Amino acid sequence: HPINIAIDGPAGAGKSTVARLVASRLHYVYVDTGAMYRAVTAIALERGIPPEDEDAVGRLAQRLRVDLRPGEEGQLVFADGEDVTSKLRTLEVNRSVSLVASYEAVRMKMAEEQRRMARAKGVVMDGRDIGTHVLPDAELKIFLTATPRERALRRFKEMGEQTEITLEQLEQEIVERDRKDSEREIAPLLQAPDARFVDSTGRSIDQIVDEIVEWGRA
Ligand code: C5P
Repeated sequence: HPINIAIDGPAGAGKSTVARLVASRLHYVYVDTGAMYRAVTAIALERGIPPEDEDAVGRLAQRLRVDLRPGEEGQLVFADGEDVTSKLRTLEVNRSVSLVASYEAVRMKMAEEQRRMARAKGVVMDGRDIGTHVLPDAELKIFLTATPRERALRRFKEMGEQTEITLEQLEQEIVERDRKDSEREIAPLLQAPDARFVDSTGRSIDQIVDEIVEWGRA
């Protein structure tokens, strides 16, 4: 099978930026698995399906077609053919995505799609359970993290004009989301025993990308 790189870690650790750059340097396909869980969540909210309704959300995930396509400014996400990329990073989605991602029917469907993508081409896949669960045979596994404050600060800068939240509130939300992702029963956020631990606190993106590309070529 093609060579695969798994990058896992908590929210805001820089996984997507790092994974995208590593993929472009090594000519691999970048797969942002968080965006897939966000797409299911955004569509549920849009269609009036309460995130608490496990059966209804599970049925939605089973029949929803989620496609990832490369775009000019990064990965685009399509749900049943509609471009939903701009709907994925709202506060409402942030608040409900961990609950939606804890449902077995949702995870089974997403993991199946993710494995299909990794079989087709070499991928750099980022998420929470890629090295432990989705691609346990990935050739290179990274667990990327940073302090909660630094992760909150990065997300805060990304959010730009969406200023109805303070940095402190954002840090609280991130810590809460990590707790839910770590405590869920199915495929929780966890460092794989054979993953390399990388702390990005106070380090530049370029340094981290160089390091991972180096390992990827070795
Ligand atoms: O990576 P991102 O912050 O966009 O992920 C959003 C959420 O999707 C996570 O907080 C987690 O609940 C869920 N997720 C997951 N498994 C993955 C990737 C994301 O459960 N592999």
